[in-house]
Amino acid sequence: MAKMSFTYGLSLFFMSVIPGAWRRTAAGAGLLADDGTVAPTIFAEMSAAAARTGAINLGQGFPDEDGPAEVLEAARAAISAGANQYPPGRGLPDLLAAISEHQSRFYGLTVDPEREVIVTAGATEALTAALLALIDGPDDEVVVFEPYYDSYAAAVALAGARLVTVPLRAPDFQPDADRLAAAVTDRTRVILVNDPHNPTGAVFGREILAEIVRLADRHDAIIVTDEVYEHLSFSAPHTPIATLPGAASRTLTISSAGKTFSTTGWKIGWVHGPAPLITAVLTVKQYLTYVNGAPFQPAVAVGLRLDDRYFTEASETLARKHEVLGAGLRAAGFEVHVPQGGYFTVADASPLGGRDAAAFCRALPERAGVVAIPLSAFTSAHHRADYAGLVRFAACKRIEVLEEAAARLATGFGDRSSQRGRTA
Ligand code: PMP
Ligand code: GLN
Repeated sequence: MAKMSFTYGLSLFFMSVIPGAWRRTAAGAGLLADDGTVAPTIFAEMSAAAARTGAINLGQGFPDEDGPAEVLEAARAAISAGANQYPPGRGLPDLLAAISEHQSRFYGLTVDPEREVIVTAGATEALTAALLALIDGPDDEVVVFEPYYDSYAAAVALAGARLVTVPLRAPDFQPDADRLAAAVTDRTRVILVNDPHNPTGAVFGREILAEIVRLADRHDAIIVTDEVYEHLSFSAPHTPIATLPGAASRTLTISSAGKTFSTTGWKIGWVHGPAPLITAVLTVKQYLTYVNGAPFQPAVAVGLRLDDRYFTEASETLARKHEVLGAGLRAAGFEVHVPQGGYFTVADASPLGGRDAAAFCRALPERAGVVAIPLSAFTSAHHRADYAGLVRFAACKRIEVLEEAAARLATGFGDRSSQRGRTA
């Protein structure tokens, strides 16, 4: 093992004595080691591994192609036109109007652009602000579906509440209604939904959505729903939980431009819901970032008003990419769980000796020139074993990149397709 440098040793010492909420945040996200060190997030670690080794990065979910030209051009034009100072606290009125129009056009939802929606620094800020706003102490509980997007556990821990998890298990990663009912109690402040789901690719069935609404109503909980993959649902149009009977009055719906317009670096998100809930979220949000992304806000308004064809094609193109990725993974010997939505395909590496997916993923860049993320990064420590062999691969890359990744995996693990008598 490399000798610890003096400055690194010193920084360890300092971290271990710094009091504050950072410690429970890191612990909540599973990043705090016994010696007080804080690991980088799995996305940072794996993207660094890709840069170091030249491996193809199917880890962090970001597209390698630009989004629609008119959206990019609108951002350039906005900078030229002087949209370079603080936008209004709730967001640019034209973007608020575009979000409202979008929710009405796609889902029939009525959103008052002046009182029921705010623009945030990505979905991440909307999620964190909502949790900080709604949670009030260590006895409050937040129900999440596990595996979960990593910021959920971090934000719940930062807010000082308890995380209660409902498992999503292979092959279809749908929650069990009884487990869900057992998880929601009068202590539940928030049921946090993510549909379509990262990392599993599940799209929740209507009965489960209805059960969530029923339980939230019975226990007077708020539903916070993360729908950043709303336009990337493959087999059926997306159903926002807020459209179910009785849901809208207790639901905060969160989305973001990042996935829909391939602009993950712009960090323009939004949250809408009943005015009192939005006021509560805004109260916290305005002291996190206040505002962000002045020239990107009008550009996202342009995106949200693109015609239906753009949205249909975005979903069809990504579905096709998943097919290419899935075929490559099967050919290399993985067992593939076909996603119903979102950026990611989950595959079981156990047939390739990858029963410990975390170790498997750490070795993968050197072994096959590909980076992927173990599902254990999205689970709590005591449930890690249930997802031990599962690996998440991002499909939001150019087809030729996915084909090259498939070829590398086939070389790294030996192409099993001939032994199985099929190619996919
Ligand atoms: N929620 C989910 C499920 C995500 O996958 C992501 C990022 N890919 C986010 C939230 C964060 O979105 P944003 O970049 O808009 O903050
Ligand atoms: N949401 C993306 C993913 O799941 C990126 C997350 C991040 O880098 N924080 O991969």
